[in-house]
Amino acid sequence: MAVTRTFSIIKPDATRRNLTGAVTKMLEDAGLRVVASKRIHMTREQAEGFYAVHKERPFYGELCDFMTSGPVVVQVLEGEDAVKRNRDVMGATNPADAAEGTIRKTYAESIEANSVHGSDSDENAATEIRFFFSDDELVG
Ligand code: ATP
Ligand code: MG
Repeated sequence: MAVTRTFSIIKPDATRRNLTGAVTKMLEDAGLRVVASKRIHMTREQAEGFYAVHKERPFYGELCDFMTSGPVVVQVLEGEDAVKRNRDVMGATNPADAAEGTIRKTYAESIEANSVHGSDSDENAATEIRFFFSDDELVG
């Protein structure tokens, strides 16, 4: 299996509850390595741009409100089959449906405030990494 990269966000509900380290430990324990990381407070423009694929969905406005409601940690994760590995440890979007031992089952508050984001394909991972990081920030 090839070593690849994916993009992760620790969302405002998790940073608010001081779970940055706990969530990152679950990512690391799943075989992912943090190769870039920064804590930012997303602007409205960044949130709207990042979630533009969801523009037509009814929850888009509230999702952008939520993602700008506090700091987030944007990270690039590396590992074997990183996109799938990350989504497996994240769990289902709705924590009510998430499997035991996943980040969302353990920490998410709701389908919206679900603690983490993870890219859903290699192609989207590359786009999302570029959205938040320059090449010289990917330090390995
Ligand atoms: P993410 O993209 O954050 O990794 P995901 O791929 O599991 O999560 P998407 O369908 O891409 O889920 O939705 C993006 C985000 O929008 C979700 O993580 C969640 O925060 C929010 N969201 C999704 N569905 C709903 C909903 N029905 N009501 C409110 N918020 C939602
Ligand atoms: Mg998604």
